[in-house]
Amino acid sequence: MNLNILDKAVKILQEYKLCSNCLGRMFGMLGTGLTNKERGEALIITLMMLSDEAAKNSGEYKLNQVINALQNIIGFKPLEKFLADRTCLKQNENVCYICENIFNKLEEFIKNSLKEISTYEFKTFLVGTNIDEKLIEKEDNFRAKFSLTWGESIKSELNREIGKIIKKYYSDVETSFENPHIIIEYNIPGFNYRINVNPVFIYGRYRKLVRGIPQTKWVCKSCKGVGCARCSFKGKMYDISVEELISKPVIEKLKGVAAKFHGAGREDIDAIMTGVGRPFVLEVKGVKRRFIELDEMEAGINNYAEGKVEVSNLKWASRNIIRKIKALSKITRKKYRAIVQLDNNVTDDKVIEAEKYFSNTIIQQRTPRRVVHRRSDKLREKQVYGLKITRISDDKLEVIVDCQGGLYVKELVSGDEGRTKPSLSEVLGVEAKCIQLDVLDVDFPDNMIEAEISTK
Ligand SMILES: [Zn+2]
Ligand SMILES: [Zn+2]
Repeated sequence: MNLNILDKAVKILQEYKLCSNCLGRMFGMLGTGLTNKERGEALIITLMMLSDEAAKNSGEYKLNQVINALQNIIGFKPLEKFLADRTCLKQNENVCYICENIFNKLEEFIKNSLKEISTYEFKTFLVGTNIDEKLIEKEDNFRAKFSLTWGESIKSELNREIGKIIKKYYSDVETSFENPHIIIEYNIPGFNYRINVNPVFIYGRYRKLVRGIPQTKWVCKSCKGVGCARCSFKGKMYDISVEELISKPVIEKLKGVAAKFHGAGREDIDAIMTGVGRPFVLEVKGVKRRFIELDEMEAGINNYAEGKVEVSNLKWASRNIIRKIKALSKITRKKYRAIVQLDNNVTDDKVIEAEKYFSNTIIQQRTPRRVVHRRSDKLREKQVYGLKITRISDDKLEVIVDCQGGLYVKELVSGDEGRTKPSLSEVLGVEAKCIQLDVLDVDFPDNMIEAEISTK
């Protein structure tokens, strides 16, 4: 029988002090369903037995060598008595050459992190380690010196063993490589750590019930949010936004640190948003709580934002949903109500003619002058499915616009000095200006994003 492994183990231990983990790890690819500690202990126990057998057969297995080697094992209790009974020597109390006794005291080293982890709600986690270069190099050199080709790296053993300790402390948690709730990163050997929390994503629809509120927080350009005279030292241009009205109660409930609002398009500050509401995704970062009933969340938001914003249809989602709602919002069908002021009276015939004209009509639209300072100037083609015009007075109309997402409706009305063609103004033959604009409906294909909506 080939006793190569045992010879190697003896050779190693004659020169270096090792703990069971580090000894076992050198043979990590041999045998399955074992920890490296168990591998190491199996080798130690076998060596103990061989040395006894050899002693009885008068030293055939180089008894002294084996006993000497065993003295270099760190922290294996049964060996202590074994050595004491058979020699006058004791197991050397000392430090493992490779890990410097990290594995023997692993639980103690991560005690602080365990305490902090307990402040987070999670079901899935991942352990990561940044191992000091010197330690990795030391292990590499060690393996090369003894031509050990079956070894595992100290990094993967540490990740796994720390993971096991965490599982022991938190009964129903699982390791997950794909999008775990929390990631705990340790620097080895110092064991200072960082807990990274993956954000949660909440999908829903919002309605904006009042005018004058921007969708997202508008940070003051002059002071970049610090506070200055221009923004009355608020750091922002508007007191409140849809984003803030929704985020604040959510951050509080989830004990998060920040939130990012992603809307499926946006309405103007002076427009309200009615109907079933506009889809949005709220990305909440650094959450300590994540197992919350969404009904409760919805009630919390609607209570906080009462009279201004209302949310409905909240669902947990994955990160992919942001990309999807952004893409879909450009093509999805929208319905607006525009109140249009004319600079001259128009006849009923003209109104009927305009309605007929804008039936499945393609509009050529260059980026409006009012936004061209922050968006690239380009020509887009958008479809108007239909207009429904009701006269309010001789020179005032209510126009219901049914169109493709991404069309600038104010410019469809005014023509934007020829940048939007055709326009209502052009067809009616008078100057027309949109004095009020509301979003009535965003026809969003909820079923197309179903796949990104999950229970958690
Ligand atoms: Zn060790
Ligand atoms: Zn300012």
